[in-house]
Amino acid sequence: MKEKLDLVVLGGGSGGLAAAQRAAEYGARVAVIERGPLGGTCVNVGCVPKKVMWNAASLAHGFHDAADYGFAIAERPAHDWAALKARRDAYVLRLNEIYARNLDTKGIELIESNARLADAHTVVAGERELKTDRLIIATGGEPVVPELSGAELGITSDGFFELENLPPRVAVAGAGYIAVELAAMLRALGAEVDLFFRYDSVLRSFDEMLQEGLLESLAADGIQLHPRCSTPALEQTPDGIQATMSTGGRYGPFDCWLWAVGRRPLTHHIGLEEAGVQLDEGGFVPTDLFQQTNVDGVYAVGDVTGRVALTPVAIAAGRRLADRVFGGMDGRHLDYENVPTVLFTHPPIGTCGLTEAEAREKFAGDVKVYRSEFVPLFNGVTDHKPKTRMKMVTAGSDEKVIGVHVIGPGADEMLQGFAVAVRMGAHKYDLDDTVAIHPTSAEELVTMR
Ligand SMILES: Cc1cc2nc3c(=O)[nH]c(=O)nc-3n(C[C@H](O)[C@H](O)[C@H](O)COP(=O)(O)OP(=O)(O)OC[C@H]3O[C@@H](n4cnc5c(N)ncnc54)[C@H](O)[C@@H]3O)c2cc1C
Repeated sequence: MKEKLDLVVLGGGSGGLAAAQRAAEYGARVAVIERGPLGGTCVNVGCVPKKVMWNAASLAHGFHDAADYGFAIAERPAHDWAALKARRDAYVLRLNEIYARNLDTKGIELIESNARLADAHTVVAGERELKTDRLIIATGGEPVVPELSGAELGITSDGFFELENLPPRVAVAGAGYIAVELAAMLRALGAEVDLFFRYDSVLRSFDEMLQEGLLESLAADGIQLHPRCSTPALEQTPDGIQATMSTGGRYGPFDCWLWAVGRRPLTHHIGLEEAGVQLDEGGFVPTDLFQQTNVDGVYAVGDVTGRVALTPVAIAAGRRLADRVFGGMDGRHLDYENVPTVLFTHPPIGTCGLTEAEAREKFAGDVKVYRSEFVPLFNGVTDHKPKTRMKMVTAGSDEKVIGVHVIGPGADEMLQGFAVAVRMGAHKYDLDDTVAIHPTSAEELVTMR
């Protein structure tokens, strides 16, 4: 059976759902094809369950300081990972249901199937063949498992969310945000954690101050850091997983080896070749300013595009695309500059705009940097004295703010507002003219000298 629709969306994750719903609000006849649980990576194996685990880790960190705040807690209460997982899974399931109801309310058809393009105007989903003038590729990505001896003994971030119990001895391989976040959570909830990374540092695309601050806090939390350590061969022994590094060093045994070494786009075997859609060498779908691929009427949003791989970016790109194509908003598109982001470590990191190194490369001597380093008031009364670090990067004689970077408690909730200021082109004097909120850590950002 052939059916003609205004829009067919491949993938019911952050980007696909956002585009579909916005298009339907403009009256378009839309179908979403999703082969897994609705909500995609973010809801099922990404941001949402991860934040639940971060919240648990935050409580665990709270117990460290509780006695200094007068609570009679001699030792940390035991943690029941399985009980938390059950609640987390139930929450995710509720979200899946809410997402399905939202589609229904907006008259969007959900087709639970694998999708494949037959050509640029035809999508095959099981028995169905859908005809459309416009389709969106929003199939996201999946974690990479390297091709190494014994690599299959390890799990990925997807497997992390399937763990029924806390593995007592965990190795995490990777240097990106997922690696450090999961390593930090596992440690906070009681695991012995070793973190292996290829170069000298983690988060190498982030400002150096954030890299240094994070390495310091990971080490202070008792995570064993192994820089310049890569290409292990893994082997199952009676005691657990043993790793042999390219340098010859042997580590382990571990109960769990977690690969967090990158993600690749899900763009193969979905008929893009048949539709004439070009991929780059990484398998990503290149798009122009308007999310348009090289084929007229075929668009791509989210992680498949190889741009900033974050949920709000996928959502914003999808909504703007629908605004333009179905809402008559000519020229509407997403600006990928100054996208703020947060790392859910302890302490968290918030960052927006250029790093100091990027700014110096772009503006040479025309850069002025403001820094602040302090023990937050919360830790004034605790024995534990972690440091909060902040950096503001400005350019030009009028000191336009082009980068804000914070590592410290509260950074996660602090950055959104400052990102608005950066986006609006704020100058240092605008921040100086803003009255501080006292006593907070955020006030440091408007009192920097
Ligand atoms: C561990 C982890 C933590 C993260 N934390 C954060 C965070 O804190 N903040 C943040 O902003 N981002 C975070 N992200 C990134 C975020 O999840 C992604 O950027 C976002 O989900 C991308 O949305 P998308 O729509 O492009 O793809 P996805 O959400 O991955 O959705 C793609 C959908 O397409 C479906 N699909 C694929 N192929 C087919 C096919 N052939 N037929 C039918 N359906 C198909 C998939 O099943 C999937 O549901 C995290 C990611 C991970 C892995």
